[in-house]
Amino acid sequence: MQSESGGSSWPGQVTLRRLADGREIRYYDDRVTESRVHAAADTRPLPEPPHAGELRFDVLTGEWVTVAGHRMNRTFLPSAADCPLDPTRDPARPTEVPDGDYDVVVFANRFPSYAPDVVGPADAGHPEVLGPPDRPAVGHCDVIVFSSDHAASIVDLSAARLRTIVEAWAQRTAELSADPAVAEVFVFENHGEEIGVTLSHPHGQVYAYPFLPPRSAQLIERARRYRQATGGNLLRDVLTAELEDGRRVVLRGEHFSAYVPRAARWPVEVHLAPHRDVPDLAALDDAERAELGGLYQELLRRVNRFHPGIEHVPYISGWHQAPTGGDRELGRLHLQLFSLLRAPGKLKYLAGSESGMGAWVNDTTPERIADRLREVGA
Ligand SMILES: [Zn+2]
Repeated sequence: MQSESGGSSWPGQVTLRRLADGREIRYYDDRVTESRVHAAADTRPLPEPPHAGELRFDVLTGEWVTVAGHRMNRTFLPSAADCPLDPTRDPARPTEVPDGDYDVVVFANRFPSYAPDVVGPADAGHPEVLGPPDRPAVGHCDVIVFSSDHAASIVDLSAARLRTIVEAWAQRTAELSADPAVAEVFVFENHGEEIGVTLSHPHGQVYAYPFLPPRSAQLIERARRYRQATGGNLLRDVLTAELEDGRRVVLRGEHFSAYVPRAARWPVEVHLAPHRDVPDLAALDDAERAELGGLYQELLRRVNRFHPGIEHVPYISGWHQAPTGGDRELGRLHLQLFSLLRAPGKLKYLAGSESGMGAWVNDTTPERIADRLREVGA
């Protein structure tokens, strides 16, 4: 049940266990420690985890919409004493993590948007001429907890911990990509109550989708056309052009650089991309994994300092990875990090133009965003 890091230079260990309802839980320890066996059993009388909901095809946009009605009942902003992501310190108050301590832990979401178990065929729904029939929303949703300390913040975690987080991202990407039902693995973090985060404990998520999400489908189509027209890789050539231009470059590392995209949509937005062509986090080598955690923390610190007078800026950050099947060569790993906060206390609402028409209006310029992200650097 326990495995060390194999060929990677990550000094940690992974232990796989199961929760009372059969869901998998993986403990990622920063260091190999024989005594940390994480053997505590989950004693809760849990019901079976929900089976997959359904995917309905929107014939007006050609996009799949996931219908997961069971998520209505999920835990919403529990008090710190009832946090389900804490370790189980008191057997009378069990949490989602049976052990009394952990470094990083990953488990299947109890209220998943996509689930591996399918019950019966989905309803055909509408005449075939209007598009493909409904499909089960088969896939995986992981919760990844960055620290056992409820009050910790990712920007303050140690370099060793960030290395473990990167390792968990990479390993879960590889493991979930091996499921033939999975089309793309999205590693992401929602941060801040302002954007609807239901748990304040430092954590992220991994969604393994059974279809290419709309943003990815658009990107792959753009990359395909670009390749046909020029023979080049769109995402690599965008990075090269930004580095040559320099006006929007925020950070230059040895293996990664960060820049504000030329057509940024959000009041704060920055992308982080590897210098080497890699499809996903699992393909990063040791040197890249070692550098990544520190750069990610530095970007988050700068986002937090973006608006004078406030300490924590809500953000969404997501790793866009290549499709696991066809068109894999058109994808290229990169992070898209953005905030909806335009000024202290003022969120950018996705109102008529953005929500209704998908036509974005940015009230600042990408060059100004980049200037500010450089200015607040260490
Ligand atoms: Zn907590």
